[in-house]
Parts: sequence; structure tokens; C-alpha cells
Amino acid sequence: MKSRSAAMENIKSTTFDVCVIGGGATGAGCALDAELRGLRTVLLDAADFVSATSSASTKLVHGGVRYLQQSVADCDLGQYRVVRRALRERKLMLNNAPFLTRPLELLVPCFSHRDAYYFRAGLKLYDWISGQGMLSPSRFLSVHESTVRLPMLNTSGLVGTVAYTDGQFDDARYGIALVNTFVENGGAALNYSRVAGFAKTKDGKLCEAHVEDQLSEERFTVRAKAFVNATGPFSDQVRSLANPGIHPRLRLSKGIHILLPLEAAFRLDAMLIPTTDDGRVIFAIPWQGRLLVGTTDDEAALDDELAVKHEEVEYLLRHLNRYLRRPFSIDQVMSGIAGLRPLVSPGDARNTKKLIRDHEVEVNQDSGLISVLGGKWTTYRAMAEDTVNVVQQYLKSAVSPCKTQHFRLTGAEGYGPTFWHTLVPKFHISPDTAQHLSEKFGTHAVEVLELARTDRHLAASIVAGAPSIQAEIVYSIRYEMAASIEDVLARRIGLQWFSWNSAIAAAPLVGSYLAQEHGWMAGQTQQAVQEYTLKLTRTMRTAGLKPEQALAG
Ligand SMILES: Cc1cc2nc3c(=O)[nH]c(=O)nc-3n(C[C@H](O)[C@H](O)[C@H](O)COP(=O)(O)OP(=O)(O)OC[C@H]3O[C@@H](n4cnc5c(N)ncnc54)[C@H](O)[C@@H]3O)c2cc1C
Repeated sequence: MKSRSAAMENIKSTTFDVCVIGGGATGAGCALDAELRGLRTVLLDAADFVSATSSASTKLVHGGVRYLQQSVADCDLGQYRVVRRALRERKLMLNNAPFLTRPLELLVPCFSHRDAYYFRAGLKLYDWISGQGMLSPSRFLSVHESTVRLPMLNTSGLVGTVAYTDGQFDDARYGIALVNTFVENGGAALNYSRVAGFAKTKDGKLCEAHVEDQLSEERFTVRAKAFVNATGPFSDQVRSLANPGIHPRLRLSKGIHILLPLEAAFRLDAMLIPTTDDGRVIFAIPWQGRLLVGTTDDEAALDDELAVKHEEVEYLLRHLNRYLRRPFSIDQVMSGIAGLRPLVSPGDARNTKKLIRDHEVEVNQDSGLISVLGGKWTTYRAMAEDTVNVVQQYLKSAVSPCKTQHFRLTGAEGYGPTFWHTLVPKFHISPDTAQHLSEKFGTHAVEVLELARTDRHLAASIVAGAPSIQAEIVYSIRYEMAASIEDVLARRIGLQWFSWNSAIAAAPLVGSYLAQEHGWMAGQTQQAVQEYTLKLTRTMRTAGLKPEQALAG
């Protein structure tokens, strides 16, 4: 990827066919699809790429067992179609970036024979709807088989579990890989570029976006023939920039996850808790060396504080612990993530748990703004396909075939499940580091390791006990447009989700690399480290945890 300044200069001097606003899953997917169809495309994000909802998901590539349950209970054909489409996309998403995805078996505990029959029948239906895309058939496991797979499971009253398979992925890295693939194929992308307004032609159609660089505060314009609003939970804001006074379309729902130590007992399989006191489901999933537990589902507003709250942590622990032999306590929580689901409102007052996770492409007839609303990560590619079809119609050009169905993302070329083995002898690194790098960067892990070969300091770990090495910091700043400590530690490397305390400990090191690569002055670096530390410390306190390190400054 180009440096920010080079990308910005190119963007200022070009007239694009399409300007995609929002660099989450939806926007990055739209940008890649448009560029591959030959449309000159620019992608802008107000913050870092994938820094909003798209890095706060449950990391499941799924049709949604709960949505299937709802579709059957409510005889809702719309919900059923969403599940079927997502199951088709599941397979494509796994194939197109195998280094970032894997099949995952989930066990549903059953405490009565009635429940066991119910879940067996429901999950057989899920298999059937998957058709050719089925990953592996669901099956019933006896109590003994279940405890071999999940030794922590509380067996009191248990009659067995029903096991089914969905996909799992690294959502933040998948998003970054989409942006990288888009840029490698000729697209222009810029993070920290907020669209703050538009200019229109005489007939009222959008022709320029007024953009504010959030790092330098510079303002510039981006010219394009079509504008796609892919800003997830912020979509209504951008819709009203283009058409002031327009009726809002979104209902937002907040969901949080917590990350716990991954005990041996949870190493491979995940658990789905099928009912909570208030009718939700909760997942407990092994993910990147931690047990990811979530999620909540509470109606929210855009200006609410988006943090993991103490009572939300307690809610998740209370429900999880009912299913375990040995409960987790709050002081074992290593980190957390909060996000906002952008759900399309049907206009009535149904609660957010029941709103379907479908998407809609809206073309505003006055301004020409094309908004892609709602959806979910798993269907990002299909959403992009629908959106770019509409873009081509808007541009009055023929709708050309979409190319993303079987388009492998950068890092997938030459990748296979044993790829990481080859890195160990070649670069003299530990198996843990080799596996970590290949699961983050795919075959680009070689480029990360080449950096460490030319400068041995870069082969050192970032914090003791974690597999990440310092070369990743330099790689993500130079080649993936990481511009802040959080960009590196959260979305590029994932250490912030592995442990808030470790991320605080690593902040000065990341700050020093950012200073070196971007030419920051000492004061600027110190301020960046202090602000990051302060933010995480506050986040930990809001979640009810005690930060290990004394607050800097
Ligand atoms: C708790 C939770 C769990 C979930 N779990 C799953 C799951 O397991 N599987 C699944 O398939 N889906 C899941 N989802 C849904 C999925 O994560 C979202 O549907 C998807 O990430 C939305 O992506 P997006 O690109 O539309 O929005 P976002 O990721 O929010 O991206 C919008 C982007 O627009 C940018 N932006 C905003 N305003 C502007 C502006 N003015 N100018 C420029 N840029 C702007 C923002 O900075 C942001 O980066 C989950 C969602 C939540 C909240």
C-alpha cells in the first residue's frame, strides 16, 4: 500500500468513477468489487480501516442459527432467505482467504431430551440449507463425548450436546486484507479522511466530497461520478449530509464481547449457549489464544459511550458460568470489544433482537447517493455485488459480471495449512511465531520476516509470552497505513484484544517505531503513548478491571 501522503496526492488529482465512503467490511468489499469491474475507485474512512463494527464482531462466518430459529418460529421467509444467502457466502469467504478463516465446531448443550430433539432437527435443517456449502454435518454427542471435547462443561442434568460447524475468522485482518487487495488491484484508499459534506451539480447530483484529514486537519475535495455510503452505523449521518432532513433508516444495537484465558479445556471447540434469561444466545469461542465470549444485544444510539461496561461483563460471566464446572471471575477478563450493529429499521417498534440482518441498497433520487444499509460481515461480498450493480446502473453503463466470488485475497496465493512449517527453519523462528504470522499475513509473512532478517532487532518479541514480533509493527506502518498505536496493536497485530495490560506495556515500543517511520518529534510520541495508555486504562476501569500499570502522566 502507498504511504498516506502519496495516496492523498493521487486522490486529490484524480476524478474517480466511484467514491466509497466507509472502510469497514461493506465499504472495502464494495471498493474491491468496483475496482475489479474496471471502475476507477477511491475508498475513504473517517478513522482507521475496519476500526468500527467490522472489528467488533463475534468472528463467525455464519448463516446464523438464531436467525434460522426465528425464521421457523415466526414463519418468516425473509429471515430464511438471509440465512440461506449467508450460508452460500460462508463457503466463499472461507475459500477466498484461507489464512484468516477456519471451520469451527460449536457444541450446543442440551438439558432435556426435548431440547436435544429440537436442536438436532434445527441443525439438520441448517445443514440442509447449506447444500453444497455444508462444512461438516451436525451430530449428537453423548455426555461422555461432550466432556471429552469440552471438559469444562457442567454435566449436571446434561443429556448431551448437538455439534454443528460454522466458519470462524479474524475480522480485523480480513478487512485489512480486503483494503490491501483493493489497492494492489489499482484502487486508491485513505484512512483518517472524514467526509464532512458534498458539492452538487446544477441538477442536484453529488459530484464532490469535502473531506477532512483527521491527522493534519487539512481539507480537500474528492471528485467522483458516483458516491457509495457504506458507513455502517453512521449511514444516517452521511445520508443527511447529502440530503439534509432525510428520514433515518437505522436502528442500532450494541454488542460486547469479553476475552478470557483459554484453558486447555476450551482449546478447540466452541459452545453456543442457546438461551439466556432475556432470550439471547451467547457464544464462547476459542479465538487467537483466548476464549471470546459474547454477545449482548441492546438498543443504542450513535452518541452513547461505546465501551464494555461492568454490568455487561457480569451479564456474560453469569450466563457462561452456569454451563461450566469451574466459574470464571471478573479479574480473569483480559480484554473486551464493543460494537454497534447497523440494523435496517422496518419502521415499527420491533425490538433489535428480532430485526433481520438483511441489507438494502438505497438510491436517493435527488442527490444520487447510493447507501448500502444493514447486513452482516458474512454477506459483505454479496452486499458489495448488489451495490456495484446499482452503481453501474446509476452511471448508465452496462452491468458487468462481478468478479469477487472466487477472487482470492492478497496473502492467500501459495498459502496452505502447512505454510507456516516452512517459515520455522527458513527464518529460525518459533512455531508459535510462524503460525501467528501466517494466520495474520498469509504468505506476506515472508515479507515481515525479511524485515527481521535485515534488522535482527525486529525479530524480538513485542511483549514476553506473546508470539508477535517487532517486524510486524514496522510492516504495518510501512505497508498497511497504520498511523497510530491502536491501529498497530488492535487491528494489525491483535495484541490489544489478547490483553489490555500487554497492549499498555507495548505502547512505548510501538510509539518509538511510529516516531521513526513517520518522523515524529519526541513530544508527539510521548503524547501518543500517554493518550493510548489513558484511553485503555479508562476502558479497563469502565469494564470493572484494575489496570496493572500505573497510569502514565
Ligand atoms: C457485537 C457484534 C457481533 C457481530 N457478529 C457478527 C458475526 O459473528 N458474523 C457476522 O457475519 N456479522 C457479525 N456482526 C455484524 C457485522 O460486524 C457488521 O454487519 C459489519 O461489520 C458492518 O460493517 P460496515 O462496513 O457496514 O460498518 P463498519 O464496520 O462500522 O464501518 C463503517 C466505517 O465507516 C466509517 N465512516 C463513518 N462515517 C464516515 C464519514 N463521514 N466519512 C468516512 N468514513 C466514515 C467508519 O469510520 C467505519 O470504519 C456483528 C456485529 C456486532 C456489533
